[in-house]
Amino acid sequence: MLTEMSGTQINSPPLPPLARPLRTLRGIGSEREVQLARLGLFTVEDLLLLRPRRYEDRRHFRTIKEMQLEEPATTRGTIVALGLKTYQRGQKSVFEIILEDGTARLHCRWWNLPFMQNYFAVGDEVFVFGKLKALKPRTIDHPETEVIEGGEESSIHINRIAPVYPLTDGLPQRWLRSLVWRALAQFEKDIAEPWPKLNLKNFPTRAKAIQMLHFPEAETDIEPARRRLALDEFIVLQRDIRLRREKFEAKARGLPCAGNNRLIKPFLAQLGFVLTPAQTKVLREIRHDMGGAHPMRRLLQGDVGSGKTVVAACCALMALESSFNVALMAPTEILAEQHHRTFKNWFESLGIAVELQTGTHKSAIRNPQSAILTIGTHALIESNFSMGRLGLVIIDEQHKFGVAQREQLLRKGAYPHLLVMTATPIPRTLGLTLYGELDVSVIDEMPGGRGQIKTFFRTAETLPKAWDFIREKIAQGRQAYIVYPRIEESGAAGLKAVTKEFENLKATLAPHKVGLLHGRLSGEQKERVMAAFRSNAIQVLLTTPLIEVGLDVPNATVMLIENAEQFGLAQLHQLRGRIGRGAHDSQCILVASAKSEESRRRLRILEETNDGFRVAEADLKMRGPGELLGQQQSGLPKFRFGSLTEDLDLIRLAQELAAQM
Ligand code: ADP
Ligand code: MG
Repeated sequence: MLTEMSGTQINSPPLPPLARPLRTLRGIGSEREVQLARLGLFTVEDLLLLRPRRYEDRRHFRTIKEMQLEEPATTRGTIVALGLKTYQRGQKSVFEIILEDGTARLHCRWWNLPFMQNYFAVGDEVFVFGKLKALKPRTIDHPETEVIEGGEESSIHINRIAPVYPLTDGLPQRWLRSLVWRALAQFEKDIAEPWPKLNLKNFPTRAKAIQMLHFPEAETDIEPARRRLALDEFIVLQRDIRLRREKFEAKARGLPCAGNNRLIKPFLAQLGFVLTPAQTKVLREIRHDMGGAHPMRRLLQGDVGSGKTVVAACCALMALESSFNVALMAPTEILAEQHHRTFKNWFESLGIAVELQTGTHKSAIRNPQSAILTIGTHALIESNFSMGRLGLVIIDEQHKFGVAQREQLLRKGAYPHLLVMTATPIPRTLGLTLYGELDVSVIDEMPGGRGQIKTFFRTAETLPKAWDFIREKIAQGRQAYIVYPRIEESGAAGLKAVTKEFENLKATLAPHKVGLLHGRLSGEQKERVMAAFRSNAIQVLLTTPLIEVGLDVPNATVMLIENAEQFGLAQLHQLRGRIGRGAHDSQCILVASAKSEESRRRLRILEETNDGFRVAEADLKMRGPGELLGQQQSGLPKFRFGSLTEDLDLIRLAQELAAQM
């Protein structure tokens, strides 16, 4: 056995052709190698998978005369004149070429790029891509150009749909296109089908797709090629997720945490409301996991206000009944404290100790008699905090944490069960990729007896009316949030703005009391303000988006958000989730300038729907996954061909196919 193994090491197989470094190809010296590396291209495979930035149909292009103002298009012509003008003592320059194609003349200009004159000569034929910015004379500034050369290579570059690649300094488009062409000719036979056992008959082969990607015969080749390559990316991802999961299940045994109802029964009896069918269904799924052979890895999704906290409480009770400790982590001190208060209220009569661990509060854990629940912020993952017999980790508002933080908390125990909760309704596409290794439970109905939330878009001119409205609501006994975009990022000036706004608002809304809450306050200051708001000692809370996550003050029914256009839709939806939590109807007023048609269109979506999933889908379409999920979700996979906004069908298919492998 040993000799066999060392034998294979000595005769290590030659590098597969597609893994060959690019410098081994003909025509690539050290300078080109460095330029290609700058584009992230190191191997033949990298080059073959270089995605064209766009395509130019060089079989049908516009004559110069046919070009329209402000409309990107390709044309071609012959250089009849060119020149470089410098001014401001040689500090500034403009280089210009004039093209002629028999229909009209076209001026192309480059500002402050004098070296452009090295690339052109009178008599050259040139392809030009850009948009006309003037008609008299016809002018394009900073177009993309390519000089047409005759000879044997011309069929690669003209009379076809030509790929246009991303470039880097000194690397000519034409040279790169020829390189791809030659690499395809040489290596196409080496592009293997990665999944020969899977049935992909509705897709081109991988080799064909790569061919079509670079040199499509028709426009209609491009999308099928992209889809095939995207599918391969999604299959790799789903396969990796499955493998990780299998490996995890092979080594980790589930702790017996299903409980015996000893605590849950009295808990539900004293709760004051009945669980919704959706909550009960989710709890069944959780109980099954908590008694299963492998540790639970479950994501609980439910729109804001759907009642995730009480589900977390029941889940915690299962572990506590089984004499295991539980840790619950929340992203802000305010939310951790709110949970601490809620859970103490719920659990103390059951004889369970509930501890708090935040930057402000560090309760020493004194050898408790029975299992305890510890609630905290990321202070929980600081290394000096440790917990014996950790059976369950719950993470609230999971999207505010990185994957690394989740893992760190889990490492406080020996494969504890994990329940992560999120109100960011992650569209299915993202869910399958981002949380593919988690089982998903969804609370898809709201508790009954709630008032309606209505959302209104208003411009700043109508603010006085809004204040009247808010005064009226307060007179009826309700409370209000006034939200400003975050101050933390705009520095001291931003803080002053909120403080000034605070003085104005106090005067506007007198005699009602206004409190101020933002991230620069100390933990104790924040607590004091929240306590006053909760007890209705102050009626209006002027705040930053700090309150976005989790707060639950059912008597607050009005929210006014200033500069609403600065927030993403999903975030606005989270914010307005702070109201509509009680029996009274609620109103959310989005104040934004009416100038931008686009921001108005965005905000209208919130007027039209209260469904968090629809809001998130819209946000994903408009702003992309990075924006939707925030910087914390750096775990987002990067795809060359796949799109998390467009390829839901492919992601589903990849998941099915990965299961067949
Ligand atoms: P979220 O899902 O946003 O975390 P919470 O757990 O904070 O929502 O619940 C919102 C409010 O709804 C809380 O005041 C909670 O007590 C209440 N609630 C939860 N479940 C029910 C239910 N089944 N019936 C009535 N009220 C409920
Ligand atoms: Mg919550």
